[in-house]
Amino acid sequence: MARYTGPVCRLCRREGQKLFLKGDRCYTKKCSIDRRSYAPGQHGQGRKKLSEYGKQLRTKQIARRYYGVLEGQFRHYFELAEKMPGVTGENLLALLESRLDNVIYRLGLASSRAQARQLVLHGHFTVNGRKVNIPSYLTKVGQVISVKESSRQNEGLKAIFEANSSRPVPKWLDMNRDTLEAKIVAVPSREDIDLSIEETLIVELYSK
Ligand code: SF4
Repeated sequence: MARYTGPVCRLCRREGQKLFLKGDRCYTKKCSIDRRSYAPGQHGQGRKKLSEYGKQLRTKQIARRYYGVLEGQFRHYFELAEKMPGVTGENLLALLESRLDNVIYRLGLASSRAQARQLVLHGHFTVNGRKVNIPSYLTKVGQVISVKESSRQNEGLKAIFEANSSRPVPKWLDMNRDTLEAKIVAVPSREDIDLSIEETLIVELYSK
């Protein structure tokens, strides 16, 4: 299962915005975007006017990096989104939000999507009572996500859950922190998704 393994703060600096890839560090003064808000590399500090294509490409890269998805898989989500009824760009974001690793992150059960991905891979969660260890698993309305019974007493996990317990949970997820169970109550709508991009630019890019 391929994934990006390079320096992640570099990705935020390249896109010129916080992508919250490092968990707690992103909320401290150590955040690289706060310290060096220009793009990495020799020409990073030069000013550059983006072409229309450049804007479309950067928007796609922001979304892809935000959710930690590689190019091939991202395009696959786009193709799925195109076939769904409704607005393609919004469908695309809803699909990305529905990934199990993102759901675990949104529920405050991990401090970043990368950590959520790791916890899912280690088999700490169930969907409708069955263990699912595939981070890209697409959750659906009505499903119940739980922490696996045998993982509930894991001290390391308890510390992670506690550290992230104050993060607001979006309204399409109904989380019970006492039972460590959550139900997907709706498809995430655009206003539920805090990613500030113009997703229509991604549609334009892939529609060429
Ligand atoms: Fe991005 Fe977080 Fe690194 Fe800041 S600390 S640059 S938000 S990954």
